Amino acid sequence: AAKNAGRNRYSYFTSDMQAAAQQRLRLTRDLQMAVANEQFELHYQPIVNLRTGGIERAEALLRWRHPERGLLAPGDFIGSAEASGVILEIGDWVFRHAADQAKRWQEELGRPFQISVNQSPAQFRGGQQVFEEWGRYVERLQLAPRSIVIEITERLLLDHSGPVVERLGQFKSMGLQVALDDFGTGHSVLAHLKKFDIDYLKIDRSFVMDLAGDSGDLALCEGIIVMAHKLGLKVVAEGVETETQLALLKAAGCDYAQGYVYAHPMPPAELQAQLRGQV
Ligand code: C2E
Ligand code: MG
Ligand code: MG
Ligand code: MG
Repeated sequence: AAKNAGRNRYSYFTSDMQAAAQQRLRLTRDLQMAVANEQFELHYQPIVNLRTGGIERAEALLRWRHPERGLLAPGDFIGSAEASGVILEIGDWVFRHAADQAKRWQEELGRPFQISVNQSPAQFRGGQQVFEEWGRYVERLQLAPRSIVIEITERLLLDHSGPVVERLGQFKSMGLQVALDDFGTGHSVLAHLKKFDIDYLKIDRSFVMDLAGDSGDLALCEGIIVMAHKLGLKVVAEGVETETQLALLKAAGCDYAQGYVYAHPMPPAELQAQLRGQV
């Protein structure tokens, strides 16, 4: 009986693994079709200048309108897109759409407006051609390159390989701006802040969450802000949900905030209505 149970457990295990592998395969195939069938959308979350209260920028956040499963957030599919390499095509789509949108909003508002786009480390392992194409794309649009902020994570800066260093340099020489996302969650890379030419630090939500109750988190945020300013970087606080958090961040000299206290990510038409009301 014991042997039987063991065998059963084993066969359950393999069939589970098979099912998981099959599901991954299906997800990869669906992702490829999603690119071709234009099932992706960008939603935008305002980033607010804490001194002026104005929306200077928005972060483009990817959504997948899945024909059966509805609107999916990146957590549901980015991992598979990275593992299968489909992220390269998706990333290309994201960049071009974000650039188009920045151009449209600038024309509509008659003032500078930036859009940040997220980049997975996997996108840096591709060739440099795609980035050269982006440069030409931005030029053809007659969009000021600094209108695009590339968001990368600390994970990427730990990769000292030639291509990563080169790509980041390439972004900067194209005139794009760079933000270090989820700051504080990686194996910290304080030394790199000086070495890489970064424009914005985004304090991760995990430090903002308990800002009101945890004096340690408050001390960390204050410290990050002072350090960033000394290095000539601007600071964005992510995941700001309450007025109390906002007040503490303002008092600490934080430059920008983004979070549900202002707005959830929303379709472009909704943000456009808000921006229009603001001018
Ligand atoms: P992220 O770049 O750190 O984006 C911030 C995430 O926090 C977004 O989740 C946003 O909806 C969420 N958020 C914003 N404000 C608040 C708040 O006040 N409270 C809470 N609880 N959450 C808040 P989302 O849209 O699910 O995106 C998750 C991650 O997926 C992003 O984290 C980014 O790393 C990645 N991602 C999004 N779009 C893209 C993309 O186009 N390409 C790549 N490679 N990655 C992307
Ligand atoms: Mg981001
Ligand atoms: Mg982030
Ligand atoms: Mg984050």
